[in-house]
Amino acid sequence: MDKWHKRTKMVHAGTRRSQYGEVSEAIFLTQGFVYESPEQAEARFIETGADEFIYARYGNPTVRMFEDRLAALEGAEDAFALASGMAAVNAVLMATLKSGDRVVAARALFGSCLYILEDVLARFGVEVVLVDGTDLDAWRRGITDGTKLVFFESVGNPTLEVIDIAAVAEIAHSAGALVAVDNVFATQTFSAPLSMGADVVIYSATKHIDGQGRCLGGVVLGSRDFVRGILEPFIKHTGGALSPFNAWIMLKGLETMDLRVRAQSASALALAEVLCGHAKLTRVLFPGLKDHPDAALVKRQMDGAGGTVLSLEFAGGQEAAFRFLNALNIIVISNNLGDAKSIITHPATTTHQRLPDEQKAALGITPGLVRLSIGLEDIRDLIEDVSAALDAV
Ligand SMILES: *Cc1c(COP(=O)(O)O)cnc(C)c1O
Repeated sequence: MDKWHKRTKMVHAGTRRSQYGEVSEAIFLTQGFVYESPEQAEARFIETGADEFIYARYGNPTVRMFEDRLAALEGAEDAFALASGMAAVNAVLMATLKSGDRVVAARALFGSCLYILEDVLARFGVEVVLVDGTDLDAWRRGITDGTKLVFFESVGNPTLEVIDIAAVAEIAHSAGALVAVDNVFATQTFSAPLSMGADVVIYSATKHIDGQGRCLGGVVLGSRDFVRGILEPFIKHTGGALSPFNAWIMLKGLETMDLRVRAQSASALALAEVLCGHAKLTRVLFPGLKDHPDAALVKRQMDGAGGTVLSLEFAGGQEAAFRFLNALNIIVISNNLGDAKSIITHPATTTHQRLPDEQKAALGITPGLVRLSIGLEDIRDLIEDVSAALDAV
């Protein structure tokens, strides 16, 4: 299995067949597992074997298939799946940090990640330092000796700057810090943070892994010592378990993910190229553009692909952005990404509404900025939809 290419792993890795030999993975919709004797129960609580389970909050065969498949895909020793991407981020932060520790993070983060860092962890006496993730000197200044954890999104939301995983990991490791990377925007198809020096990788499976807008899920990947020794005790006692039914949906999603993400990324590039230089736009942000300032890094770290999301900034500010959203016919207004359906978001008034204006400005979340997640529709129809809506601005 180790020799298989990613797409093969996405279809087959981690499969556990029951005595019936089913082709499609079975859904073990059970909370508990029966022991043959009290001696067996006792032994299992002392040490749980590779194909043994105790309670669905600790693990479940369908969920384990999903974890094993993702670990094989990522080249990780182990993985733990959770109920959502935020449950995964929270588990990594809570399981590794204690009062007095220092965490250094990129300031361009998903809104809920900022909430955990700035509101929750601060209450527990964790020192949180936010830096401009694209500025290696800022990382060097922020990561002082003894820093416990370094956390960032490899591609920032919604302004899509790309952070140099290998360079930040080197700085972090020389100070003794653990490096956790949220790799949602880059996806497993294009990027492998563990091979670039990250210690822990986090995904919201809600995005490209499901990819069809059905359910929430998350996963943390890393070494066996980290996943089973540090993370598992925290997760199994705090209850962020992924439902076996949702794990099954995610397993099915993984089977087609590589095809979907490649098609979506090609469409995102085609649309970004059409829109570059448009008179009504001040910025077209897409990491896959040839003249992107970080093109060399994108080539090294994301296989040259920009992902499935692009952002546009309207010269006419929020009024122009809203007019554009209201004029779209195919692309829906929502806040997910990575879906088969193209989705448009106005971050300043929705996902990042909570942030003070100065912080929005510092992050480049201007009133004219919109984030566009490209789906699986025919690119000709998407270009037509966007062009017509631009004419209406
Ligand atoms: C969506 C998202 C999350 C949170 O995932 P949920 O499944 O919605 O909880 C975290 N990080 C990034 C980058 C995301 O896009």
